[in-house]
Amino acid sequence: MRAEGVEAVVLRKFEMGEADLGVELFTYRWGRIHALAKGGRKSHRRFMNKLEPFKYIRGLFRGRRRGLMLLEGADIIRPFLHLTEDLKKTIYAFYAVELVRVMTPMWDPHPQVLELLLRFFDFLEEGEAGEDHLRVLELRMLTLLGYRPRLDKCVRCGGELVGGGWFSLSLGGVVCKKCKEGDDLIMLSEETLKVLSHLLKGKGRTPFLPKVKEEARRFLPAFIRYHTDRDLHTLRVMDELGV
Ligand SMILES: [Zn+2]
Repeated sequence: MRAEGVEAVVLRKFEMGEADLGVELFTYRWGRIHALAKGGRKSHRRFMNKLEPFKYIRGLFRGRRRGLMLLEGADIIRPFLHLTEDLKKTIYAFYAVELVRVMTPMWDPHPQVLELLLRFFDFLEEGEAGEDHLRVLELRMLTLLGYRPRLDKCVRCGGELVGGGWFSLSLGGVVCKKCKEGDDLIMLSEETLKVLSHLLKGKGRTPFLPKVKEEARRFLPAFIRYHTDRDLHTLRVMDELGV
């Protein structure tokens, strides 16, 4: 079997036995996979510092599809060194990685999500990222993975949303005052709906007003949790550390 070179972001690594390393990677060609780096804990020449989280690498793989791939070697394309120089940047980068891990199935390629992840890392390295940018990231991830929330009209009656609306997790959209029923509703003000709708059209603005920030924080992670049935641990860490 021929070895294949594939680009990937390292999501996490774990020890396997005395000498080997396991890695979870988000690859261009196959989506999220696990791979085994034989001798990875000892072979400094082949893997030294290359299999750390956030590194964008070109890996040389061998193995059967859908099984554990063998990672025979790796070259770094982008090291993203600055992501780990600052606590907030590191936690934000871990959050992006967690979103990829909970939102994308194994062996399901999503090249646009990988590009989004790389752009987000770039942005984190260059700029002053705030909580708002995490919400933008969540919104884009949801959209790329087919869960774009519908925020501009009532999803039940098609009516205008005067004075805000209620986001229904099960319907994936906002309902108006007349149509609101059920126990999975999250109240969103007119201002928040406007900001998030604009973002969905690619022209939203940050930073958010405090009210928008607070409502978006309650809404978007809850919507992700609804679809993935997974808790977002990094959010709790952020709350605890106040970043
Ligand atoms: Zn309605």
